[in-house]
Amino acid sequence: MKRISPSVRAISLSKHNMSVIFANIFYNGPITQREISRISGLSFPTVASNVSMLEKKGIVEQSIESSSNGGRPSALYKCKPTYRYVMGIEAEHDKLHLIVSDLMGHTVNQRNVSFHKKIGKEGFLNLLLRELGNEFSNYKEGTAKFLGIGIGVGGLVNPEDNTVSILSHLPNWGSFLLKDIVEGEFHLNTSIQNNSAAAALGELWFGLGRGRKNFLFISIRDGIGMGIVLNGELYRGTCGTAGEFGHITVDDHGPVCGCGNVGCLETLTSVPALVRNAKKLITEGVTTAITDIAGGDPDAITFPVLVEAARQKDKLAYKLFTDAARYLGEGIVSLVNLLNPELIIIGGDFVQAGDLIIEAIKDVLTRQALELPRKRVDVVFSELGENASALGSAVSIIQDFVSSPLGR
Ligand SMILES: [Zn+2]
Repeated sequence: MKRISPSVRAISLSKHNMSVIFANIFYNGPITQREISRISGLSFPTVASNVSMLEKKGIVEQSIESSSNGGRPSALYKCKPTYRYVMGIEAEHDKLHLIVSDLMGHTVNQRNVSFHKKIGKEGFLNLLLRELGNEFSNYKEGTAKFLGIGIGVGGLVNPEDNTVSILSHLPNWGSFLLKDIVEGEFHLNTSIQNNSAAAALGELWFGLGRGRKNFLFISIRDGIGMGIVLNGELYRGTCGTAGEFGHITVDDHGPVCGCGNVGCLETLTSVPALVRNAKKLITEGVTTAITDIAGGDPDAITFPVLVEAARQKDKLAYKLFTDAARYLGEGIVSLVNLLNPELIIIGGDFVQAGDLIIEAIKDVLTRQALELPRKRVDVVFSELGENASALGSAVSIIQDFVSSPLGR
């Protein structure tokens, strides 16, 4: 058996101490050195010398507040949020949402880049690398200012080999190693995951999921995705595909879904489903103000038009939302009965219609869910907006940094 030399052991022990001390500052700060010593069991001189090293490097700073329990006030230390930034991107099938965030999840910059759905794999990769390069060039230190890049993709990500398979929206792309491509270009730590799973992490770290142990994040846009947090950690499933809530069957005679099945939840409750239903019913002659609100052009009927019509008490628009909410509510009943979450956060485009759907969802829950888990669950709408997934994509980059602030 290979023996570890005493000097190697001393280095790994000192790295371990540093990581424990910085984790205390990052997660529990502002905090005094004495408190870190108490929580970690490390001696005060060890804590003091490590904190001093972190402060010299600009990774931690003294907080303006100070702690006093009668004697001389003690300095409080916290992570300096702007020491480095992280890049977070959500890649949807027709849009990149890109954000630059500091270490505490405060957005430094954010922007959207639209692209055509038929851009193809090469076109998409070229665009992604170009936009990342453009963003890095905005900072005088370039990529050196950044700890890494997190990307949330609207597809399946295999956690074992990091291959990405883009789902039905982008057929024939095959699977590919996005992580290797991006790391090869920018030489920065890169993390890839499913966009809904990433959004759940965003909520856990920076949103309404903070401090919660068991919650679900449901994103409703062109499809429905879900991120599952159990015991304070993201649950990914056996091969990383957990949370495909949009593909549970809610109507055996419903429309055909992109997955090949019939009557999946997202064929009845999603942005395209509502728009498609509105157009179909208008063609059949149902009286409504929707077309007028769309400027008289049925092709101009969009999701925001339907929200506006429902707010103006248009009967058809209102019914479209309550029907969609009922299907969604039925799906949520199963989730509540199965997983007993304390919180369900709804995100994505349906947040705009929160006031139009919440009562119908709660009504279904009251009637159909088991009483005990139903009484302990709240249904809320995300406050992170379109940033949830991009922010959450970068969480693992920040976690890596916390465990090794001076590098590996
Ligand atoms: Zn489906």
